[in-house]
Amino acid sequence: MKYDCLIIGGGVSGLTAALVMAKNGYHTALLESSRKTAPTIRGFKRQGLFFDTGFHYTGGLSDGEPLDIFFQYLGLSGKIEKYPFDENGFDTFRCLEPNFEFPFPYGYNRIRERFSKRFPEETKAIDEYLNAVKHVYHSQSYINLDIDTNNPGLSVVHGPSLKEFLDRITDNEMLKCILSMHCLLHGVAPEEVSFFSHALVAGSYYESVYGIKGGGFSLAEAFDARLKELKVDVFCNREAKEILLSGENELSGVMCGDKEILYCEHCISTIHPQQLLAIVPHSAFRPAYRKRIEALEDTCSAIMVYVKTVPPLKEIERANLFLFPSPSFPDPCAADPIDKRPMFIARARQDEGKAFEEGCIIICPEPHTGTEYWSTLFPTDDPDAYQSYKHDMTRRIITHIETSCPEFKGRITHVESATPVTLKRYTNSPRGGIYGVKHKIDQYNPMAATRIKGLFLAGQATTAPGVLGAVVSGFLACGNIIGHEKLREELKACI
Ligand SMILES: Cc1cc2nc3c(=O)[nH]c(=O)nc-3n(C[C@H](O)[C@H](O)[C@H](O)COP(=O)(O)OP(=O)(O)OC[C@H]3O[C@@H](n4cnc5c(N)ncnc54)[C@H](O)[C@@H]3O)c2cc1C
Repeated sequence: MKYDCLIIGGGVSGLTAALVMAKNGYHTALLESSRKTAPTIRGFKRQGLFFDTGFHYTGGLSDGEPLDIFFQYLGLSGKIEKYPFDENGFDTFRCLEPNFEFPFPYGYNRIRERFSKRFPEETKAIDEYLNAVKHVYHSQSYINLDIDTNNPGLSVVHGPSLKEFLDRITDNEMLKCILSMHCLLHGVAPEEVSFFSHALVAGSYYESVYGIKGGGFSLAEAFDARLKELKVDVFCNREAKEILLSGENELSGVMCGDKEILYCEHCISTIHPQQLLAIVPHSAFRPAYRKRIEALEDTCSAIMVYVKTVPPLKEIERANLFLFPSPSFPDPCAADPIDKRPMFIARARQDEGKAFEEGCIIICPEPHTGTEYWSTLFPTDDPDAYQSYKHDMTRRIITHIETSCPEFKGRITHVESATPVTLKRYTNSPRGGIYGVKHKIDQYNPMAATRIKGLFLAGQATTAPGVLGAVVSGFLACGNIIGHEKLREELKACI
């Protein structure tokens, strides 16, 4: 059996690519090493609650916005139910020292108005920042279908950094910290991330913010149902082990863990680029390319604490809480003491009508497992040491939240915790980096096309992190095969 297209990795980018290819008549198969597709976003249930893992909310999903158009094209729109976050404050910024709170609204006019009211001296800086974010976000070929482009994608992202941009327009440290808070949605510090990469992620949230009823699980199920309708062969529990080549660096198939070979004409790999290197014959890529991929740095990882809150917390009903110790943005990759780290708190959902129980998810950045911190933390592979680390970090995070946020005091019960090791295991990422590869200044940005004829790359490493970034990466890779103009015209027809 020979497939027209084989997708490696069943995360959001791989699922997107599989649907696009199948919809365009390509006989398509998808390989996912986990038990089920979309392990990153599928979430889990405990004690009557559903806890999301890799998806809490998204930008760009309002009617007619890019993600809405993609979901319509993919046939997912009728299978999910979206709901808006609070337009007057979808994310609440809270600084602990000095005490300062700012509900971040969405919609450019609302954002401008709210900021100008709180920072009346800074109107010019706020305008400049917002105009620049909007410009960058709308300069992307799959975000703005009206622009003319033959060359979607960038191989290197240059400066200025977000920090340099903000330092140039204002001296107000609190304002800079608020405008940087969404760095937690891509995992790169303001001094390392280019203004451009930051704007690609933050820009989508500034226009509209939605959740999906049933969270990441519902989205994963919608993808699965659509794969079935389009007759994509899905192989879960199947790991791609080797990319097979024939002739002049030309793809012929993929060998799986069970030694079965799936022959194919095209292959789209959505796995971490360094994992791809391990399964491609050494001579297939130029040494310089290998070196650039080997040198890619990952984003930070995280400790996630899943808790029950009784009674439900109104404060995070339709908004998340971003907690900062002070107005200077801490490096999310640093192993700072817990009370010096930024944190993100999102609401968990009831599982089938347990009316009085709700919960939340606390995400605290932690260095990924490839760092020196981990080698000193766990010099030996000791399960007891790991359990005591997990327990200790959970206790410290809960204590910090209870002492610094009065609305949580005495109202939370611990349910479950996850660490960088958990992320590594469940999402099959090499070091448990929360958003995979860093999109940082001057670091190589892997492109969709490769030197191997028939092999293309997608995934958060190639575009931007987040569900929107992963979906765009799927379209970009398919556009290399099907033709970008054809795909973009078909997308336009969904508006
Ligand atoms: C804690 C957390 C919270 C997040 N919150 C949000 C949020 O609120 N909103 C948002 O938009 N985004 C969020 N994200 C980011 C978002 O989930 C990711 O950017 C996106 O899901 C990445 O999709 P992907 O397809 O690029 O990668 P992945 O989901 O990593 O997909 C790659 C797949 O490849 C599989 N794989 C690996 N190796 C092999 C192999 N050899 N053979 C076969 N399969 C293989 C893996 O199992 C995996 O399923 C969050 C992420 C995390 C971790």
